[in-house]
Amino acid sequence: MTAPRILVVLDGAAEPIWPWPSTLEAAQMPALDALCDRGAVARVATTPPGLPPGSEVGIPTLLGARLASAPGRGPIEAAAADVTVPEGAGVWRVDVHHHDGRRAVTAEAMLVARDLAAALPDHDVRHLKGHRFLAVGAERPEVEVVASLVVVVWDDGEALAPVLDRRTVVVAAPGAAAGCGRLLGAQVVTPAGATGDVGSDLWAKTRAALAALRDGADAVVLHVGGADEAAHHRDKVGKRAMLEAADADVIRPLARAAADVGGAIAVTSDHATCVETGRHHADPVPAVLAAPAVAPAGAVRLHERLAERSAVWDGPFALLGALR
Ligand SMILES: [Zn+2]
Repeated sequence: MTAPRILVVLDGAAEPIWPWPSTLEAAQMPALDALCDRGAVARVATTPPGLPPGSEVGIPTLLGARLASAPGRGPIEAAAADVTVPEGAGVWRVDVHHHDGRRAVTAEAMLVARDLAAALPDHDVRHLKGHRFLAVGAERPEVEVVASLVVVVWDDGEALAPVLDRRTVVVAAPGAAAGCGRLLGAQVVTPAGATGDVGSDLWAKTRAALAALRDGADAVVLHVGGADEAAHHRDKVGKRAMLEAADADVIRPLARAAADVGGAIAVTSDHATCVETGRHHADPVPAVLAAPAVAPAGAVRLHERLAERSAVWDGPFALLGALR
């Protein structure tokens, strides 16, 4: 049996470089620092040129898909939520925002759920979580405003083709990472308590990842969503707290597990999310990779400013496989 590879995806952890410290720079992440000390630090281009930065682009790219255009978010959310789309029908992700661009919170979304369903009588509309809905129907939903909220229907996009098999286990809350994992052909595990938001049960995800490794998984991908969610709400304190929790509850135990069996582990983001503006960015994101075959590069920390001039890797997941 070959030693496993582990990829930790801290959704939206990276940020554009500003004159002041980024959240990765400000956060106390001793387990990540220790990985940097024994591994190699570089950057990963998670958003191919011309594509919009987002998890539906960044996660498949991290996992080895070659995207020519953005994947449809509707089919990804449907795969994550186990929603079956009837033959001949389509599925769209539908979001509700405030007029200033802020995402509606769950309570606000639930308050307009009935109005949204009434505005789309030919669609099966269901609330997913937060500001997210899913609409299944024959035609693309046509709706722009519901109550006092702006409605955004995501574009149709390319279908994700499988590039993985069930020897790869994706541990994620219901959401883009779970949907991408499923459509890409991986096995997806969603532990109880995993919400994809701030307050998610990170230990439950780590336990699921360790169980998958014990069961002989070839690769385990663990997705942590809360840092991106906090950044969208422009919540600096929440983003930092989420990264520090991921360091203690995910990175530390998985780094130890990788070291124990001679496996390879990488930690990175799927895209940057600016905590000032709440927007995604397409810049390459910092990544650390530690494996027995990797010579320590002597990096001290993992953050945007330190990695600014480092090499840009293509496909860290493939690289992880080659380095075991
Ligand atoms: Zn995001």
